[in-house]
Amino acid sequence: MTFGIDDLPVRDELRGKSPYGAPQLDVPVRLNTNENPYPLPEALVERIAERVREAARDLNRYPDRDAVELRTGLAEYLTNTSGHPLDVSNVWAANGSNEVIQQLLQTFGGPGRTAIGFEPSYSMHGLIARGTGTGWISGPRHEDFTIDVPAAVRAIAEHRPDVVFVTTPNNPTGNAVPPETVLALYEAAQAAKPSMVVVDEAYIEFSHGASLLPLLDGRPNLVVSRTMSKAFGAAGLRLGYLAAHPAVVDAVQLVRLPYHLSAVTQATALAALEHTDTLLKYVEQLKTERDRLVAELRAIGYEVTESDANFVQFGRFADSHATWRKILDRGVLVRDNGVPGWLRVTAGTPEENDAFLDAVREVKKEQN
Ligand code: PMP
Repeated sequence: MTFGIDDLPVRDELRGKSPYGAPQLDVPVRLNTNENPYPLPEALVERIAERVREAARDLNRYPDRDAVELRTGLAEYLTNTSGHPLDVSNVWAANGSNEVIQQLLQTFGGPGRTAIGFEPSYSMHGLIARGTGTGWISGPRHEDFTIDVPAAVRAIAEHRPDVVFVTTPNNPTGNAVPPETVLALYEAAQAAKPSMVVVDEAYIEFSHGASLLPLLDGRPNLVVSRTMSKAFGAAGLRLGYLAAHPAVVDAVQLVRLPYHLSAVTQATALAALEHTDTLLKYVEQLKTERDRLVAELRAIGYEVTESDANFVQFGRFADSHATWRKILDRGVLVRDNGVPGWLRVTAGTPEENDAFLDAVREVKKEQN
């Protein structure tokens, strides 16, 4: 027998668990991780090279620990796109929004504390909770994947969680959460504890509706998290950020590692922000493709959950994993998120989406 994880004195709650991650398979069409299919434009690649070259000259020094220039740029982006004024004191950045979420749970969760999310949703919320010793509570949703507000309010009153997660648009289902729902959950969370409410807006740029950033006004226990992995087409960069009351930004600095955000990351993200307008044009194309996927999947005869994201949840399947495999056999990788009866496809380029639609048309014929 080989020596393995379970032979090491790992923490009890990690025993028997597997690392999170979608399969990284080498297939012609990969539509499984909600990435942006468009490579960065050449002018931006050049600008990144310039900015990184400059940063490289100072790599003997630690980076700007407070990432002030980058946070200022991110605050401007949020202000310009939401109309809600924010400045550097409202924004914090880290290595992907996963790290932002981890820092929030290290700050507001932890041993003896709990967090709640309404599932199915982004499973990393629960996994990062576990990794930070925070108890996890799985809250309810309706059959149509919208949040069951009265049941959610009851769950918050009963469990009095320290952190409440709301993902809008939700992953993997795609639907956006109306502001009234977030307000109702925020009120319930304040009455119960008070606790922090984290709105995960990783996909908000693809939404038909507006960001919930204006709700930050007068709500110091509300946090909105964002990422450059989706709309900015920079999943490889690892840059996530949050907007909140300045006190929240001060609080997460109690747990961040010093110099957590490398000078190379900061330089690259600043270059990407300079090209915001071009990158947001790709978002418009992807929204059109997403709407086409919804319409065509319905025309083929699939059920589709309303989508405000760059992906679409479709079904229903007696055995979603078997269907996932049939689509993969046709060279297209989609995602089985473990939601019984459903699969998720990311909007790709028009050619990739055509290949996906051809595959699922064939699969549908076989199943009829
Ligand atoms: N939130 C949601 C809802 C996501 O789907 C993802 C990525 N799949 C993330 C956060 C994390 O993104 P990143 O760490 O790349 O910013």
